[in-house]
Amino acid sequence: MEKWQIGVFTSVDAGLGVDLDVANELEIPTIQIHAPHSENRTQSTADEILERLGKYGITVTAVFGGFDGESYADIPTVVKTVGLVPLQTRATRLAEMKEISDFAKMIGCGVIALHLGFVPHDTDDPGYSEIIGITQELCRYAAANEQALHLETGQETAESLIQFISDTGCDNLFVNFDPANMILYGAGNPIEALKLIGNKVHSVHCKDAKWANHPGQEWGQETRLGDGDVGMRAYLQTLKEIGYTGPLTIEREIPQEPARQKQEIGHAVMLLNKLKADLL
Ligand code: MG
Repeated sequence: MEKWQIGVFTSVDAGLGVDLDVANELEIPTIQIHAPHSENRTQSTADEILERLGKYGITVTAVFGGFDGESYADIPTVVKTVGLVPLQTRATRLAEMKEISDFAKMIGCGVIALHLGFVPHDTDDPGYSEIIGITQELCRYAAANEQALHLETGQETAESLIQFISDTGCDNLFVNFDPANMILYGAGNPIEALKLIGNKVHSVHCKDAKWANHPGQEWGQETRLGDGDVGMRAYLQTLKEIGYTGPLTIEREIPQEPARQKQEIGHAVMLLNKLKADLL
């Protein structure tokens, strides 16, 4: 596969990605796709998606899980609502992730991904070993479908994430690195984090953000790619240094402004192609 193929985060009926048509109109060759709602995780939906992607010449590189009731309104709300960590929804969401793994298999994709949620920082917390247990269970399920599981970064520091992956002992567990999330959540310098996580990074988001005045307590501000504090040249240079050759998947989450969203994704494609030409 060509190095650093451009990608974009998409969705069909759930999640914040752009429509597949936008990826086609911008001539983007790869996508990550948010899993459809439960009732549409069927062979017929999979066949429809595959037919559209075949026509467009687009490859799916990851299927992202996400759940009803998740909210990224502010950091305390993320703690309460996102991923497999909240107890009230844990069992049903774990079952849903297994369905999403089966759906990913139907569209021929070898990677599932998700925001796990806020894992307890204290490894002696009983909650920590519970999250290790469900992650192992999901990794075993994914392995049976010949898939890897990628954890989206953001809620924890690079050190905590490395510790967590090591503690699971799973050999199909990797990282979907999102540099903007490190800034939005105040979880550490994204470039330093990327260097630390290194070869555990098996997919990435190209997203940008500005630091909050009080990082970790309030949200940073997501921006157009290149306008935030990540430093896109340093980001790609570091991806090169760690030997990352996979897709560069643009994520721009302003679905309420579709025209601006498409225009800014187009801008991101240009910026990434220019940096690729300089660095590869
Ligand atoms: Mg992301």
